[in-house]
Amino acid sequence: MLKNGNKLALDVAVFGDLSRSTLESRRQPVDPPRRYNAERPYSVFHRNGNLQADPKQLSTLRRIVAYLWASPYTIAGITIGLLLGGRFQVVDGVIEISGPRIAGLLLRMLIPALALTFGHVVFGQTEAALARTREHERVHVQQYERWGIAFVPAYLTCWLILSLAGRDGYRENPFEVEAYAADDCQK
Ligand SMILES: [Zn+2]
Repeated sequence: MLKNGNKLALDVAVFGDLSRSTLESRRQPVDPPRRYNAERPYSVFHRNGNLQADPKQLSTLRRIVAYLWASPYTIAGITIGLLLGGRFQVVDGVIEISGPRIAGLLLRMLIPALALTFGHVVFGQTEAALARTREHERVHVQQYERWGIAFVPAYLTCWLILSLAGRDGYRENPFEVEAYAADDCQK
């Protein structure tokens, strides 16, 4: 009996192990929960939870698309700056152009301006004017990035509708309201 008893003990041990490993093999792998991560809002997950695309790469892609989208105005701005012999500087990825002939152009506009944005180009009467209006004009840069080629027609349409309604086509223009909310550089 001792021998048999040993055999029985062995069988129980073997079957015990077998049944445990069978249970484990039947357990389905569970996908990790997909949580929204504010720091990585563009993360795209595979089923196994691995990142499909690097958010930094997506963000770079978005930057490239934004520059391309606004490029017709940027190219026009660079051309005008070169023709008027402006002084070029690049600040935070935006080309800023100033100089006496740029100032002459800005002063002759319908509303004389300290600065004017054309895509990723900002014209300023002087470097000091560029610095003073930087935050306001950067909102216009973002608007060009959003609207692309449609920005100027959209801006002028708002101006026209407001003017026809007897309102201020400049200060009540939604594009200016957004820019002045960021920085009222006329104060
Ligand atoms: Zn403005």
